[in-house]
Amino acid sequence: MNTQLIDRFDRIHTNLRISVTDKCNLRCIYCMPEDMAFMENEGIMSFDEIVYLTRVFVELGVNKIRITGGEPLVRPGVPNLIRQLRGIEGIKDISLTTNGIGLAKQAKALYDAGLRRINVSLDTLNEEKFEQMTRRKMLAKTLEGLKEAQRCGFNPIKVNAVAMRGFTDDEIIDLAQFARENAYQLRFIEFMPLDADDIWGRNMFVPGKALIGKINETYPLAPVYTNGDGNHEPAARYRYLDGGGEIGVIASVSEPFCDQCNRIRLTADGKFRACLFSLTETDLLTPLRAGLPKKNLANLIIDAVKQKEAGHKINSTDFVKPSRNMSMIGG
Ligand code: SAM
Ligand code: SF4
Repeated sequence: MNTQLIDRFDRIHTNLRISVTDKCNLRCIYCMPEDMAFMENEGIMSFDEIVYLTRVFVELGVNKIRITGGEPLVRPGVPNLIRQLRGIEGIKDISLTTNGIGLAKQAKALYDAGLRRINVSLDTLNEEKFEQMTRRKMLAKTLEGLKEAQRCGFNPIKVNAVAMRGFTDDEIIDLAQFARENAYQLRFIEFMPLDADDIWGRNMFVPGKALIGKINETYPLAPVYTNGDGNHEPAARYRYLDGGGEIGVIASVSEPFCDQCNRIRLTADGKFRACLFSLTETDLLTPLRAGLPKKNLANLIIDAVKQKEAGHKINSTDFVKPSRNMSMIGG
């Protein structure tokens, strides 16, 4: 196989996000409901199935993998999965997105398995707000996890903060300062309509431009221009003029970057999704378990990529929210 995953808009897809579980030890209000119903274990891809499907994707040109969830570190054995994925020729980059709670225990094993890049989600440094946002009292665990990741040598460590009106507004500078002091790269993400509780509204997210404007008043910034593969980065990047590192914003709602998108997704139950906001998905796990040859699995993926939508329609009146919330897709 030597095909690329090209869609109708000439976008080439090389970046695959794999969800290893839909389960989580937090219940972030922008993602999951308190009483989330999780998938049955039999319907979740085994690590062997993930590795097999990843090989199919890599033969189709995928070279970048991110492990996500749900919370990936609630599934036992993720370091083993990382080790196996690292053995696949053609993969240039593997990273992991986590809420950090499991890192105090697992950072070393992940590092030893060859993982070097990690994104830790942390929306607030305030104990009470953390509890309001995640419905759990676990800020200390996440902070401990971040420290341990740094001690182990992860680099870069990115801190993802979902920017929600009424929560994030008065903490923008504190978060920036925290990241600067610890040499983390902060990434604000605009709150997207992928929450299970339907709390999203146009007045609920803080636009990327406002976030950068506010930070620039305290810590002057200059844009970082990327080229080559960097063009596909969803984050608009800025550097601190005083040498204090970098910060980015993922302004998916206010400044969509769909025309540059090179991302595709595999859910924990083995469904292929060409876009976060796709209303359709392609089951790969059932045909894999039924013994469909690799070439036919590849054709299913190629066909699904051809159907990829031009972009999300969050800003249009005919926007339809996908039936899966963020934790069921894999953020
Ligand atoms: N549990 C891990 C975590 O929280 O990092 C990985 C999965 S989580 C779904 C991946 C990322 O999606 C996190 O950074 C999270 O903050 C973000 N996220 C979840 N729901 C979101 C939403 N409605 N809008 C924007 N980002 C969201
Ligand atoms: Fe869990 Fe991550 Fe969703 Fe929060 S954003 S509920 S940590 S999956």
